[in-house]
Amino acid sequence: MDGIDEVFNGDSGAAQLAGQPRILALANQKGGVGKTTTAINLGTALAAIGERVLIVDLDPQGNASTGLGIDRRNRSCSTYDVLVGEAKLREAIVPTAVPRLHIAASTMDLSGLELELGTTRDRAFRLRDAIADLNKNAAPDTDYTYVLIDCPPSLNLITVNAMAAAHAILVPLQCEFFALEGLSQLLQTVEQVRSTLNPALTIHGIVLTMFDSRNNLSNQVVADVREFMGAKVYETMIPRNVRVSEAPSYGKPVLVYDLKCVGSEAYLKLATEVIQRERELRTH
Ligand code: ADP
Ligand code: MG
Repeated sequence: MDGIDEVFNGDSGAAQLAGQPRILALANQKGGVGKTTTAINLGTALAAIGERVLIVDLDPQGNASTGLGIDRRNRSCSTYDVLVGEAKLREAIVPTAVPRLHIAASTMDLSGLELELGTTRDRAFRLRDAIADLNKNAAPDTDYTYVLIDCPPSLNLITVNAMAAAHAILVPLQCEFFALEGLSQLLQTVEQVRSTLNPALTIHGIVLTMFDSRNNLSNQVVADVREFMGAKVYETMIPRNVRVSEAPSYGKPVLVYDLKCVGSEAYLKLATEVIQRERELRTH
């Protein structure tokens, strides 16, 4: 796997401008690996410890929006409208039941984005430009400190927009046999984006999801991923936990649905680790 070192040794991009949010994209072209669950629950955990968080739902399926209880009728202005240039990002934002956690919801329209934008020159920068003035004229203490982008399960123009806008990528990997399959393609795309659209882009970390300690295969996958990816893998692993999978059907993050369950504990720990990594990036 050529290029991995280069992807991982890049500038952290952490020299953020004062007043600008940190922008993290949750990406993996595989579906069902925990991108949306991590966006919702890492977002909730960050908000719980005082950050002001915006989730940008970039999946036409809109699972992050639904999982946070945003009714389809409340999506009259969505991320699609923002990306095609018909609305400002602020106009698409709605609050959630979690204090300090807001979302820009998505609709199925997004699946037509690629056709809609055609070959317009700025097509890869639509999201970056939309986020650029997000905090402009924000009242004190209403500026966002984190933007989490929930990507679709594909390496298409939508994901490229997320990578062009982000400081760093957070990759959820499911603890299953094919976990590493597809990772090299993902890293190659990150490298391509780094060399063309966004030189400061880096990998924030890899989070192992749906871990089952009683399952030998799960343990083997963890060992392989840690050997292959080293320190980029977060210490915290998200266990497979039925409460985590039940929560979205109530339109709630698992931290609200059942704060004491092991899934909630893991996401709180992950948030602490993400913030710790942010501090390290800033001091280096
Ligand atoms: P993606 O966004 O990558 O497609 P999701 O976050 O939607 O993946 O997760 C896929 C499915 O797995 C969902 O039904 C979700 O509820 C479930 N799931 C995610 N994380 C866990 C977990 N830690 N324990 C149990 N189920 C989980
Ligand atoms: Mg998803």
